[in-house]
Amino acid sequence: MPPQSLKIDHARYVLTLDRQRRIIQDGAVLVENGRVIRVGKAAELADTRADRVIDGRHLVITPGFFNGHMHISYAHPVRGIFPDEQASPLVHVFNLQAAMLGECVTDQPAPWALPRYPAAEAVARTTSFLTKWNGRLDGRIRAWAMPFSYETCSAGLLETLKHVVDEQHTGLTLHHNSGAKARQESVARHGHTPTAYLESIGVLGPNVLLAHCLGLDEAEIDCIARSGTTVVMCPVTAAKGGRGVPEHGRMPELLARGVRIALGCDSPNNSNHLDMVRTMNMAAIQYKDARQDTRQIPAEAALEMATIHGAEALGLGAELGSIEVGKKADLVAFDVLRPEWQALWNPVNNLVYNADGRSVHTVVIDGRVVVDAYRQTFVDEPRLYARVQEIGERLQARTGISFPRSRWPLN
Ligand SMILES: [Zn+2]
Repeated sequence: MPPQSLKIDHARYVLTLDRQRRIIQDGAVLVENGRVIRVGKAAELADTRADRVIDGRHLVITPGFFNGHMHISYAHPVRGIFPDEQASPLVHVFNLQAAMLGECVTDQPAPWALPRYPAAEAVARTTSFLTKWNGRLDGRIRAWAMPFSYETCSAGLLETLKHVVDEQHTGLTLHHNSGAKARQESVARHGHTPTAYLESIGVLGPNVLLAHCLGLDEAEIDCIARSGTTVVMCPVTAAKGGRGVPEHGRMPELLARGVRIALGCDSPNNSNHLDMVRTMNMAAIQYKDARQDTRQIPAEAALEMATIHGAEALGLGAELGSIEVGKKADLVAFDVLRPEWQALWNPVNNLVYNADGRSVHTVVIDGRVVVDAYRQTFVDEPRLYARVQEIGERLQARTGISFPRSRWPLN
């Protein structure tokens, strides 16, 4: 059982991400029964006691991070197999994915091996998945519908699944991109651009999260903004995949319209790393380069997307995303006694531009310490790593999909 109360005392900085975006120097956070009950200056909380007290003098405390689009799939055990010249590995991706458990639903032909069912079965499978998983682990598991993309599903399937998630008070997420070619094809097939098509069939709204969202035009941004639809962008996938952010990236325009944007790492073979700090970094620097303008996506905006705006995009903003009294105690403590944190003048700049996930010292979820001074408290890491490698080797043997392990001679 976790301690009933936990205090982080004398934190170097607490980045609250509350409404005022307060940054508290020499701060303290008090947690009871999984929730934040006090946050303020250490001196203000000096008379409070807790079952466990963490010395925060070398720690910068942030809210927990939100990875808004990530495939827990085939890619973890074969991370890094695709050589750079494999421009579009999607055929292999879906063949590998099909060889493992877990599923999404579609009902239309696709150029890849996606799980396809008659629409009624796709609905039944999704409904039973939502019923089985949504709300488990004291609400930490939220199950959503994932009918892959507008291209791979009929309008009927998408409409029905939207009704299902509305009724079950959960969400629906789709891969979604546009661009000149996609618009042309969508207009020919549906009479609308990709985003306007979704709006025309009622499949936009605050509980719809569109992933990637490259290549949107102004009218499509209007559809998203007026329907309250949320977006998750994967800046490292966009850069590593050569997706043409200068031409297709619309993050600044979406933010300017008040669209809630989360950040995502996508698949471990797309961005490869699953590090939200590096993802914030890419979000903050990518548009400066793309627009040749250093005012684009300030470090603060990147941190908002990874925390409070990410929580809001996933429909969890009332409970998570900031360090505020009454919210769940999801906290990350970064260790500033490391070279990359020197010298420490502006903690947001240091976090977004200097650091990466390796300075994560302690992580608290629902008041429970799950990373304790760099040690995972719930898993035997060396054993897990060996097991993942083993699963990857077996997956390659089973599918016959493998690539040379090095472009250089490997002896
Ligand atoms: Zn995806």
